[in-house]
Amino acid sequence: MDLKGRTAIITGASRGIGRATAIAIARAGADVVINYSSSEAQAASVKEQIEEFGGSAVIFKADVTDYRQCEAMVKYAIDHFNKIDILINNAGITRDNLLARMKAEEWREVIDTNLTGIYNCCRAILRPLLKQKNGGRIVNIASVAGIYGNSGQTNYAAAKGGVIAFTKSLAKELGSRNITVNAVAPGFIETEMTDTLSGKVKEEVLSRIALGRFGKPEDIADTVLFLASSASAYITGQIIVVDGSLSM
Ligand code: NAP
Repeated sequence: MDLKGRTAIITGASRGIGRATAIAIARAGADVVINYSSSEAQAASVKEQIEEFGGSAVIFKADVTDYRQCEAMVKYAIDHFNKIDILINNAGITRDNLLARMKAEEWREVIDTNLTGIYNCCRAILRPLLKQKNGGRIVNIASVAGIYGNSGQTNYAAAKGGVIAFTKSLAKELGSRNITVNAVAPGFIETEMTDTLSGKVKEEVLSRIALGRFGKPEDIADTVLFLASSASAYITGQIIVVDGSLSM
């Protein structure tokens, strides 16, 4: 995959899947904006790692729940690299609880970050992307929970289901401008997000994965890279499940 001459923003790129994605996209030759909201040291270490192999990266602090901060991030990317081509909406959180016990703030935080955050970033990038008249790529990170549901995750599954519907709708809006909009739906990926789950839950999940292992952030990054590249030029509005068979 060759992304030389492209500029990409990856939200939530300080850790986990976003980190691996920023590295994969930079390795393919793109200039990358590593977004983070609180993990500054980790974001700086991603930049360092990219520069070690001769890639080009900047870090930018923005909370995706705040539209103004997303707008400022897009402006910074364009000021720094002269253009913007790719947006990877990866930032996400969980606040798991059974609905009977779920607090309104647990519901709101997850919807605000995982769904409204994607609206904010897409809305902020749209005008410059259309003005450039050079096409573009948007890749949203959904989840298998958004397709099949998951007990204890009504908030998360609703947000991710929303991401899937959003992806399909925006793909229809932007197809004529040669901007593709796709989503990746990961299964169980080994990151800090899944680290806190109990051994019993992990064992049960693992028993349902035909490939016999949990996913690695790089498994998702490789699929995102494909969707961000010209190799996927005729794919839009699609949700690619990357879960080792978990949801099969
Ligand atoms: P993670 O290791 O917890 O990393 C989450 C990232 O999101 C961090 O870089 C964090 O940055 C960033 N973030 C959180 N809130 C933010 C905000 N308001 N503004 C900007 N950035 C924010 O999680 P992960 O497992 O890599 O998950 C990445 C994406 O994949 C999420 O959308 C998640 O829902 C999805 N996913 C994960 C799995 C899995 O099994 N791990 C499965 C399906 C889907 P800071 O630390 O700087 O705040």
